[in-house]
Amino acid sequence: MAPPRKGELSPEEKDLLGVIAKGNVEEAGRLLGSKNVHVNCLDEHGMTPLMHAAYKGKVDMCRLLLRHGADVNCNEHEHGYTALMFAGLSGNKEITWMMLEAGAETDVVNSVGRTAAQMAAFVGQHDCVTIINNFFPRERLDYYTKPQGLDKEPKLPVKLAGPLHKIITTTNMHPVKIVLLVKENPLLAEVEALQKCYRVLDLICEKCMKQKDMNEVLAMKMHYISCIFQKCITILKEREDKLDGFIKRYVLLQKGLKGALLLGSDPTAFSVLTQAITGQVGFVDAEFCTTCGEKGADKRCSVCKMVMYCDQNCQKIHWFTHKKVCKTLKEIHEKQELEAAKEKRKQEKKQKKDEAQLEQAGSTSEEQSAPGPDATKEADPNLWIPTDPTEETELTKEPEARAPRPDSPLESETGLADIALQKIRDSEE
Ligand SMILES: [Zn+2]
Ligand SMILES: [Zn+2]
Repeated sequence: MAPPRKGELSPEEKDLLGVIAKGNVEEAGRLLGSKNVHVNCLDEHGMTPLMHAAYKGKVDMCRLLLRHGADVNCNEHEHGYTALMFAGLSGNKEITWMMLEAGAETDVVNSVGRTAAQMAAFVGQHDCVTIINNFFPRERLDYYTKPQGLDKEPKLPVKLAGPLHKIITTTNMHPVKIVLLVKENPLLAEVEALQKCYRVLDLICEKCMKQKDMNEVLAMKMHYISCIFQKCITILKEREDKLDGFIKRYVLLQKGLKGALLLGSDPTAFSVLTQAITGQVGFVDAEFCTTCGEKGADKRCSVCKMVMYCDQNCQKIHWFTHKKVCKTLKEIHEKQELEAAKEKRKQEKKQKKDEAQLEQAGSTSEEQSAPGPDATKEADPNLWIPTDPTEETELTKEPEARAPRPDSPLESETGLADIALQKIRDSEE
């Protein structure tokens, strides 16, 4: 078959584009089997079926097209857009990742000199930017699983390449998250394995700095993970409780950082680092896990409702320290709720007054059912009911923490944040 030319679509190819828009994978599969369909055919703007599917956020369709040999780096688009650029514009994280794994080049620019990451950033798709900036092709790591030069053995055992690659490409740079990823794989959570890994990371870091188009961001990330691995090695050698001690130490350290945050000294060192590495900007509207910093945590402590976690595991890790402040936070939360309810009632009264005035002025007001006074007490959809952290989690067996002093003179005079901070300090003594 002759190479596809812009705008010269067979009737079946036209059908295929229509089917992609509808997301009918089965029908697309049937059409792709036809001899009149070229998987890399081009519409009048030079868009391939893969670009269409990526732009419309059709995950299964993209997978199907790639399986049929779609060219991820096709660059016939009239403005030089690639499939990766369309994926980034669509904001679909899975497709962005899929394009990268399929070998999409990240440094290609469109007709106005923008890369896929820059275009995604321009339309506010920061998750996609993060994915693109953190992508590290598996082959670059696999290079170290073969003996090089005079080496008799490879620098990285093949079995470690997978788990290490997962850590290298993580977009959550939180130290607790990285240690959790190490712990997750028993092959990796050993002194010898970690030693091999951190040496490979150091080599990659060096390469990043020496290569012609120096990549200092990637170098910094490699160095950062290498440092955490080295800390893990020290802990593994020293301590009985293995990496749990390390996690606890960080959780405590974090509490210090949180304190600093309450006092308004943002950005913290960690947020600056994360921003540099992931390209993530400060204004994120998602919740983060208190323990591991994972974005999009949606489980709340069922008692105080003030802290968020990814799951029960993260809650358990955090409980040894959170239990000291949970009660106090609960009081604060209740106070805040009360104040919010008061404020709401005030607003409602004002609104009613305004409406009455409007009515007097002769305008017809729409029927509105006034919410009852307990409208704010609706069940929180994020509420985490199944676990009561006071129930026999391993960590609760530690001695009971001092009860918070309800008569603390601080409470009447200072802001809630100060009270929380003071209580946290008390509990640390
Ligand atoms: Zn978590
Ligand atoms: Zn709590």
